Parts: sequence; C-alpha cells; structure tokens
Amino acid sequence: MKDAKTLERAVIVAETKIQAAGKKTRRYKKKPKPAFDSQKYRGWVQLFWFAVTIWIGLQFYFFVYYYLAGEKGIYLPRPPGVEGFLPISSLISLRSAIETGQLSWVHPAGLALLVIFISASFILRKSFCSFMCPVGTVSESLGAVGRKIFKKRLKLPAFLDYPLRSLKYLLLAFFLYAVFYQMSSADIQTFLNSPYNQVADVKMLLFFTRVSEVTFWVLLVLVVLSVIYEGVWCRYLCPYGALLGFIGLFSPVKIRRNSKTCIDCLKCSKVCPSRINVHKMKAVNSDECFGCMACVDACPVQDTLDMKLPGGRKISPRTYLIAAFMAFLIPILAFKVAGYWDNNITSEEYKEHIENIDSPLYHHNRGQVMTREKLEQLNHEQH
Ligand code: SF4
Ligand code: SF4
Repeated sequence: MKDAKTLERAVIVAETKIQAAGKKTRRYKKKPKPAFDSQKYRGWVQLFWFAVTIWIGLQFYFFVYYYLAGEKGIYLPRPPGVEGFLPISSLISLRSAIETGQLSWVHPAGLALLVIFISASFILRKSFCSFMCPVGTVSESLGAVGRKIFKKRLKLPAFLDYPLRSLKYLLLAFFLYAVFYQMSSADIQTFLNSPYNQVADVKMLLFFTRVSEVTFWVLLVLVVLSVIYEGVWCRYLCPYGALLGFIGLFSPVKIRRNSKTCIDCLKCSKVCPSRINVHKMKAVNSDECFGCMACVDACPVQDTLDMKLPGGRKISPRTYLIAAFMAFLIPILAFKVAGYWDNNITSEEYKEHIENIDSPLYHHNRGQVMTREKLEQLNHEQH
C-alpha cells in the first residue's frame, strides 16, 4: 500500500517536471536587447535629486550655523527646498488651504512639494520613491550592499510581512487623524503661525547635527536593517510612502502582463525591489509598486510585460523615465516662477529665531506649540 502511494507520488513529480521542462523549452519571441538601459538612467535621475538634496542640506547648514555662531563663518542663503523635509507642517498647511482657501506663507515650498508629490503619484504611481526620495536612494544603495553580501534579496514570510507593512499605514492614519480630526481650525492657524513652525526646519537640522544617543542608535539600527533587508524603512515604516502608495493605486498606469505569451521564467519577480510576484499577476495593482520598470527591463519576451495606460497603450521605459523626471522638475519651476516658493520670514527674524533657538518659545509638546502671549503669561506667573 505504502509502495503504491510512493510510486503514485513519483509519477506526479515526474509529470510535473516534464511539464516544467516543456515550459522551459517553449518557443517564444525574444525581446531585442533594449538600447535604453532604464535602470542605469533611473540611477542617474536618483543621483541628480540626491545631489540637489545634499546641496540644499549644505546651504541650510551654513545658513543656520552662520547665525548660531553670531554671524561668523560662511553665509549661504536659506534654500526653500529644505521645506520638503517638513511633511507634517505641509500637511497642516494643506488642511488650512482646503479650509480657508488661503495659502500659508510660512513654508510655501513645503506645501508646493507635498502637492507635487501627491499629484505625481496620481499620474505615475509612487514614482517619487523610486526617482526622487533621498531616503529611497540611500535605502536602495544599502540594499545593494546587502545583496552583494547575502547573494539574494531577503523576503519575510507573508504572515510577518503583511502585519509589518501595515505599520506605515498606522503611522499615516495617526498623522491624518491628528491633522484632519483632532486639531481644530483655530489650532491649525495657531500652529502655522507659531514660532515653532517658523523654525521647524532649523529644529530638524539640529536634530541631526546635535544627534542624541537614542537618535544615533535608532539611525544605526535602521542602516544595518536596510543592509540586511532591502528597503526596510520604505516597506514597513515610511508614512509618506504609505500615502503616496495609496494614492498610486488610483493611477491609470500599471504594469500589465500578457499571460498568453509569458513563459513563467520569474525574472520579473526576481528583480522587483518591492518583492511583488509580478509573474502571477495580470496587472500589478500593488501599493508597493513604485514604477521602477526593473521588471519590464528584465522580461525576455516581446510584448509580454509593459507599463500600460487603461486602453492598452504602452509606455516605454524611456518615456516613463522622462515623464517621472519632468513630473517633479516642471511643477517645482512653475511654483518658483509663480512666486509661491520663498517664505515671508525676513533675515532679521531668522537671526532672532536662530540665536534664541533653545528658548521655550520654540518648543512644542505633543503638537501643542508655544506662543509669545503664552510665554509672557508663564513668565508673568513665575515672577
Ligand atoms: S512591479 Fe515592476 S515597476 Fe513595480 S516595483 Fe516591481 S519591478 Fe518596479
Ligand atoms: S512576465 Fe515575468 S515570468 Fe513572464 S516572461 Fe516576463 S519576466 Fe518571465
């Protein structure tokens, strides 16, 4: 009885092997080697935005430290682009703009960038993450180091991966709840015009330059984890990525697979940095797809895997890459030309803010900001 069962199992295994071999030897129309290496050019685009970010960081560093040093050293003007690192303040500005129809002038570039990133995700999925985000670029580079060491991209089992992926959505839900529900309209205006918000960018710089022991260890753990598990921050923790990924679900462009010509070689799934099982899908409708086009490049069969519009019209990797570059560059230039980019805080005000940056006036506690009136009242009570 046992022997019969073993024999039956062996036949099934053999048949499966034959079928698999049949698949492997199936004739297919090989795709010509693309003249345009989209991954190489995507790397150049990432490098361009990364260099822009470093330049912004350096300018802002010299701007802040010039005033911290009592107007000594190298002075560089404050780059408005630094406001791209103030997503919460920008979200609060967005709510204010929706509610009042008025644009905040405290961090205009921050609001402009948030609107640009959201709009680009509607059109080109989470392309911000794969083309522009400096954290994404660093994360991918650390992941590449990890792949060299471990010879493969690690993948957590689904029972761990799914709950962990929901963490970034929980963080996003927390911020959306706080900004759009918990804060009253008056709180929003108080926050936007508070001394804390005016120097939120300075505070952020000092968070990294006066790094505490806890921050240091947290950053180190994230770096090590990113080497071991590629994209750990983006996949599990980044609420900004969660927002853009969710919006990207409504994008008309999608990676589509032609199952009739697909030879199940799995190459698309193997190269996907988001660990999507592309080879099993007709259309990739995952919030994790950031439109990197690596799967399209890897597919060896002609007309089998492409980025497509709803009507089936193909978007070549070259067109997609140019679109993803322009989708950020042109609106940024447009906002600059339209005059909604530089804020209305004068150099004298910045000098005063930065020289007194450790004053309680620039503190905040769980979203509660200090105002000049509140501080005067507190001082009055103490005396
Ligand atoms: S599915 Fe394709 S385009 Fe989307 S992340 Fe994976 S490799 Fe990139
Ligand atoms: S779609 Fe994926 S599995 Fe199918 S042929 Fe292309 S790379 Fe291979």
